Amino acid sequence: MSSSYEAVIGLEIHAQLLTATKIFCGCPTAFGAPPNAHACPVCVGLPGALPVLNRSAVDLAVTAAVALGCEVQQRSVFARKNYFYPDLPKGYQISQYEQPLALGGGVTLPRVGQGSGAAGYDGGKFVRLTRIHMEEDAGKSLHEGFADSDRKTYLDYNRSGVPLIEIVSEPDMRSAAEAAVFFETLRQVLVWLGVNDGNMDEGSLRCDANVSVRRQGDTTLGTKTEVKNVNSFRYLEKAIQYEIGRHIDVIDHGGKIVQETRLFDAAQGKTYSMRSKEEAHDYRYFPDPDLPALVVDAERRRRIESSLPELPEARRRRLIAEYALPEYDAALLTQTRSLADYFEDTARQSGSAKAASNWVMGEVLRNMKERAIDVAAIPITPAALAGLIVIVEKGTISSTVAKDVFAKMYDTGRSAADIVAAEGLAQISDSSSLEPIVQKVIAAHSEIVAEIKQGKDRKFQFLVGQVMKETRGKGDPKIITDLMRRIIE
Ligand SMILES: [Zn+2]
Repeated sequence: MSSSYEAVIGLEIHAQLLTATKIFCGCPTAFGAPPNAHACPVCVGLPGALPVLNRSAVDLAVTAAVALGCEVQQRSVFARKNYFYPDLPKGYQISQYEQPLALGGGVTLPRVGQGSGAAGYDGGKFVRLTRIHMEEDAGKSLHEGFADSDRKTYLDYNRSGVPLIEIVSEPDMRSAAEAAVFFETLRQVLVWLGVNDGNMDEGSLRCDANVSVRRQGDTTLGTKTEVKNVNSFRYLEKAIQYEIGRHIDVIDHGGKIVQETRLFDAAQGKTYSMRSKEEAHDYRYFPDPDLPALVVDAERRRRIESSLPELPEARRRRLIAEYALPEYDAALLTQTRSLADYFEDTARQSGSAKAASNWVMGEVLRNMKERAIDVAAIPITPAALAGLIVIVEKGTISSTVAKDVFAKMYDTGRSAADIVAAEGLAQISDSSSLEPIVQKVIAAHSEIVAEIKQGKDRKFQFLVGQVMKETRGKGDPKIITDLMRRIIE
């Protein structure tokens, strides 16, 4: 970005709430059913069908609001947002407008992790939220064919009426990296709370970005454009980066930004215009006469507040304080609640927090990533991993052998102790067994020994490595080093 400009970015995030049934009827919310298998008269807006608000949707929305530090409003109102689209057959979407569920709140961007180091990224920044409101999702249109003659559109109302919260941020972000990390941090909290499944591929979490630029030092906002429905962190960052560049280019060439809605084409890495402000809908909101005002009393709010789990940020701080972990470890271990639980169980049972952290950040995360699985699917329990850590800490096996043992534990489900005993993997640490091997290696490398004697000490490690090789990784490197020094000198 040209240094004389500043980007101003705000996000609007739609998150499906993890309820069993829809927001205004009893249809299931399960993803992947055959088209229109989960659609009743309320879902498709047949005349006379009446909505009834789902209590657990409200509880989940309030949970998110409280966790994000918002002020939950005692009284909020569902309104009709009027527009027609084939995937919205009743002609309006029920959404909260003038009186949303919650106001304020915010998210602190992490100092360590994804965004740190990126240009314009300010770790520790507090990004304010404007509001959180509840609404229903619309159905889905599936288009087929491009030529006019064979163009078809299919409609699936399974998604129609799935409960959503829309989280609207203030325009507090100043770079694409900040926006991506904000979205990622928000996703982490929602998944952590069990409010949303975080599945962006299936569209249960979606993001729109409002982007504008202004001259450095200006306090008024430039004209903004909105990039709709970006479904990955990387695409969000790319789309915003592209928009910032496009805005600056237009302004630098004396042009004017047109307020409009744009879509991101991931293959081209570009955004393109979807509709301009002139085509924007006038939604003619009014309170839905079929639904009473939503009242969340203080008692309900307190009950939800007291049932909140320890949140990611608090957990990171506690891991650092309680286990003396570096901030980097704490950030990685708190990606999800289940991973943090797995780490803490392992740390407690092994009595060695840093070793537990290294194993989880190393082999456990590597296997999760390579196999695309959750920590719950890792067949090595925290107790079993703790068993391996204890054996390594005692010096029974070397850390090189430990990695192989981990792999065998993974594949067979056997304990570390079993594998070490059955395969004779215990570390060789008695000098009498190691000395003949050290002698043999020294005899075979007399010219290197001569060089070491002349002061080329870095060749020393090579000889230790040769002994390790002879012992198939089982030799205790410390004892080998001591023996080697003594014999050479
Ligand atoms: Zn229904």
